[in-house]
Amino acid sequence: MNSKVAAFLAVLLIVSSTSVWFIFTAISQDSTNVTVHFIDVGQGDSILIDTSNKDVLIDAGRPSKSSIVLNYLDSLSITHIHLMIVTHVHEDHIGGLVGVLESTIIVDEILINGQSSTIGAYTDFMNLAQSHTVTVAQRGQNFILTETANLTVFNPIQPLEFTDKNANSIVVKLQVSDTSFLLTGDATADAEQSMLDDLMLDLQSDILKVGHHGSATSTTQSFLDNVSPDSAIICSGGEYGHPHEETIQKLLSKGVTTYGTYLSGTIIASTDGTTVTFPDNPEPIPELQTSLILPIFVIMTLLAVIVYQKKLR
Ligand SMILES: [Zn+2]
Repeated sequence: MNSKVAAFLAVLLIVSSTSVWFIFTAISQDSTNVTVHFIDVGQGDSILIDTSNKDVLIDAGRPSKSSIVLNYLDSLSITHIHLMIVTHVHEDHIGGLVGVLESTIIVDEILINGQSSTIGAYTDFMNLAQSHTVTVAQRGQNFILTETANLTVFNPIQPLEFTDKNANSIVVKLQVSDTSFLLTGDATADAEQSMLDDLMLDLQSDILKVGHHGSATSTTQSFLDNVSPDSAIICSGGEYGHPHEETIQKLLSKGVTTYGTYLSGTIIASTDGTTVTFPDNPEPIPELQTSLILPIFVIMTLLAVIVYQKKLR
């Protein structure tokens, strides 16, 4: 072999091995990346877990919000949902899923909590669900999404523990390598206590989807202490006084960076398995709520007047 041919073969070997390495790392990075979309549907929840393999849709807001969710899926070219989760039978969660089932989106499996309801959306949903694989959620169930991502059901247990529909919400923990998301539906303090009592459950998560739109009937201090999230997301349209000030203060005083769909619209969180980032840089909920500024101003003024009058005496 002359030296020119040898040099050519050496260059060829270097170029081809480098491109193989580039392609391999690109593929492996893509396959570990998971993006969680907290879709703004006003009052209600809708969460899309987008992985390189299986995609999951949790709730879709009220019946009128199915078009928002369908447009959002379309914008991401998603035509196939591998797992649809309906956290519970309230209209602001199950409602929009009816439109998704009526659409051309392929849905493989549907996870329900097994509680029935008399609302029209529930009847419509169950009629459409019959042509799919329907699974009843049970604490401990695990769904593999990719080699590095899986979902575990934390709530409810079967038979259902509660009569309250929110309390029976399906709660799932999404684990992506070293990062995790706890998605709580409208789980109440009772459901939180049930999860705290089960020592098999590792509640600690990087991201908490705050229960029941930030209502004070969820997110107890002990639950929050155990989850100990870095960031929290509140899905709310600002109705029913949600989120409650008490919940926001609880999160902020624990140093949790908190975002709200009612402030930022759809919130996107992305993980490579090591770090969770918010690529759109949503604005966190400020430390001091504007609703508190006026009462604090009034109190400070009154104190100043009292101090001034005492000095005059
Ligand atoms: Zn709700």
